[in-house]
Amino acid sequence: MEHVNCLIIGGGPAGYTAAIYASRAALSPVLYEGNEPGGQLTTTTIVENYPGFPGGVDANQLMAGMREQAVKLGADIRRGVVTSADLGVRPFRLVVDAETEIEADALIIATGASAKYLGLPSESRFRGMGVSACATCDGFFYRRKDVAVVGGGDTACEEASYLAGLCRKVYMIVRRDVLRASQAMQDRVMNTPNIEILWNCNTTEVLGDASGVTGARLQRRNGEIFDIDIDGFFLAIGHHPQSELFSAWVNTDDQGYIITEGATSLTNVEGVFAAGDVQDPRYRQAINAAASGCRAALDAEKYLKR
Ligand code: NDP
Repeated sequence: MEHVNCLIIGGGPAGYTAAIYASRAALSPVLYEGNEPGGQLTTTTIVENYPGFPGGVDANQLMAGMREQAVKLGADIRRGVVTSADLGVRPFRLVVDAETEIEADALIIATGASAKYLGLPSESRFRGMGVSACATCDGFFYRRKDVAVVGGGDTACEEASYLAGLCRKVYMIVRRDVLRASQAMQDRVMNTPNIEILWNCNTTEVLGDASGVTGARLQRRNGEIFDIDIDGFFLAIGHHPQSELFSAWVNTDDQGYIITEGATSLTNVEGVFAAGDVQDPRYRQAINAAASGCRAALDAEKYLKR
């Protein structure tokens, strides 16, 4: 069985940054990229808020650059999905693509989170063409336009408020007659004149043409069907951290996010570190994921060199 010093799981900003730092610390990291090399960022187009790129940067190019940098510094980056893990033994034992066993002295979990979507075929068709699950990433492209945000939680309220500062009008599509969000966030959206809440509504179809999203078809709980004209359709119905594989050993919160100790990447299992969106229910930005990947590599270095 192959034995590695430092195994990193996840090919997003957290994983690649961890690989960059771990390589420079001579930890000989091996990184498995999983199903979505480049991570969630690759579902967007231009990234305008990653520091160092005054003209913006193509998301795929940014991720390819991080990957190339890690490889240049010596990281062994591999295609492959970790399909099972045993963190109750030392070294840790993992299985890649359900067939290749590997053992590791230190493990960095950077498997990310995925935004939840409604599951409508029209929503997939217009993904990246007006359908987005990240207002902070894509909102800027809808300046002075009309958009909709689906959801009634804190994220939806926060995204609607953010978009209200950029867009002409923001509809919030809420499936019940109440918001789930905290009172402060509710007050904020209620007091923003260009946010209109469409209560008791579900989206049945995202409408569009070759240029992208042009509207959404909604159905009220009483059966009434109507259309709204919008250019952007933002999902804010929650995220799903990809932590299931490890949750038998690693402590998670009630939503499945891995719990880390204070500002560190330390989990409750010595030698297992978590970085990026799999442990961050709050900020979920590439820059934060990259920074926490750095922390995880420094924590792993300290652990391995004890
Ligand atoms: P939540 O799970 O809190 O809210 C999800 C929202 O989406 C709910 O309104 C839910 O409706 C709605 N929803 C879920 N599925 C569907 C669907 N299929 N169709 C339509 N609507 C749907 O997720 P959030 O991402 O908002 O928040 C996650 C956690 O992060 C929360 O604990 C939140 O408090 C926290 N958070 C805190 C922030 C802060 O403190 N600044 C900022 C952002 C998040 P319903 O209510 O009917 O179930």
